[in-house]
Amino acid sequence: MTKLEQIQQWTAEHHASMTYLSNPKTIQYLTGFGSDPIERVLALVIFPDQDPFIFAPALEVEVIKETGWKFPVVGYLDHENPWAMIADQVKQRHVNPEHIALEKGQLQVARMEALAAQFTSPRFDLDITTFIERMRLIKSEEEIKKLEIAGKWDDFAFEHGFAAVKAGKTEQSAVAELQYALMKEGIMEMSFGSLVQAGAHAAEPHGATNDTKFANNELVLFDLGTVYDGYISDASRTVALGTPTAKQKEIYDVCLEAQLTAQAAVKPGLTAAELDKIARDIITKAGYGEYFIHRLGHGMGMSDHEFPSIMEGNDLVLEPGMCFSIEPGIYIPGVAGVRIEDCVHVTADGSLPFTHTSKELTYVG
Ligand code: MN
Ligand code: MN
Repeated sequence: MTKLEQIQQWTAEHHASMTYLSNPKTIQYLTGFGSDPIERVLALVIFPDQDPFIFAPALEVEVIKETGWKFPVVGYLDHENPWAMIADQVKQRHVNPEHIALEKGQLQVARMEALAAQFTSPRFDLDITTFIERMRLIKSEEEIKKLEIAGKWDDFAFEHGFAAVKAGKTEQSAVAELQYALMKEGIMEMSFGSLVQAGAHAAEPHGATNDTKFANNELVLFDLGTVYDGYISDASRTVALGTPTAKQKEIYDVCLEAQLTAQAAVKPGLTAAELDKIARDIITKAGYGEYFIHRLGHGMGMSDHEFPSIMEGNDLVLEPGMCFSIEPGIYIPGVAGVRIEDCVHVTADGSLPFTHTSKELTYVG
């Protein structure tokens, strides 16, 4: 059964008149057509017993046809009313949508209301988000190949980023160098804003790269990812400029042990919570538990934060094809921040990483 047919079956089983899919990532996953419509309306409408259609900005219609989409695609011009046109398509199919399934985590309230206004008080109690997240949880071989390619570009980016760390230069200049190197190779899109943080600045795990200057005898944290054919990568390394202090070296070694031990422990049958605990116990025993202030990892694939979440309380059992990050971190305010991250896919008896840059403490500068 194709992915589209699975959505169609779900729609029938849940007695929905139609399923209105609006998340561009979902549409890309199901059709191969990837686009960010920004404020324009892009939707994939699926019925229990009729062919689906894509509704899209007119300027996207040709690209959609080129991806091999074999069902109708309806384009609209900027001055046209997209909601009336969608309703017209639905009515042409003799569907009276009393019950519409949505992606509630993504669809804006104003858009739900605009859709509702076209019909006679439809019900919106069905949310298909969890079903799609479950589908996306297990990656196919084809998806894993794309994730491997995205991962290789992270290794390339680290090499160029590390070479840009010189005392007196800024974090921003290192991001510029690594992204320039990628762009020259044709990698134009990053998974998220690249992060380079020097010294104590790295103790803010959600801080942004800024004009902080690299200084000798400090650690520098890199966290970056690239996009390849709709699939992302995400990896972190922490490197040393000059000679780290004993304290910095100690937290690095603890974080590394937690990362390596957790990555080696991944296998089908282990739960997400058990995996988090393996890493967390090592950091806690070393006395730094209070400085590890986030979950061990997150699922990844077409986006950076999808299922499974590797954290306390998640009893999800790991299965081959699941992809996620393993990224313990220790952040001591005013001292240093260390994070070491590889994303992996679960195999029949273990796991394989998408990135291969050495995790031994690397000296730069
Ligand atoms: Mn990351
Ligand atoms: Mn991550």
